[in-house]
This record gives sequence, structure tokens and C-alpha cells, in this order.
Amino acid sequence: MRTMTLHEVASLTLPIGIVCVGCLRRVLRTAEQIGAAEGDHRTLEQAGVRCGRCRAQRFDVFCFDTERSVRAFMKSEPS
Ligand SMILES: [Zn+2]
Repeated sequence: MRTMTLHEVASLTLPIGIVCVGCLRRVLRTAEQIGAAEGDHRTLEQAGVRCGRCRAQRFDVFCFDTERSVRAFMKSEPS
């Protein structure tokens, strides 16, 4: 399972993708939505990010280079 720090998220221009390990819900989150700031080295889990459906705090994180890859992520079926 991969995670990121708030510092890493803050440096991105595109949202990150989060897939809940519990219910496989996929969401996009911008740095602003997460409250990510440069210099904040807490992980997403430590910052209290959790699934909006099942409240699980275990998830895989994806980051993207292009808008196209963001759209592809949201279209993907849970594996
Ligand atoms: Zn969930």
C-alpha cells in the first residue's frame, strides 16, 4: 500500500486519486480539499483522510501526470 505526505500532495497541480481498501470507492482530492501544505510531512492517514463511504482509513493513493490519466482513473472498475 502506497501513501503520500501532505507536502507531496501540495506540490502537485492535479488532484490525487484515492481508492479505499475496504469498499473500493474511488475519489479525487485536491491539495486544498485535504488541507495539504508544503513542509507538512504527515501522511494522509496521519492527517485524518478517510473513506467517505465506509470511514476506513486504509487506502491506495495514485498521482497523475495528465488530466487524461485522472479521467482514466475515475472510469476504471475496481479490480
Ligand atoms: Zn471505503
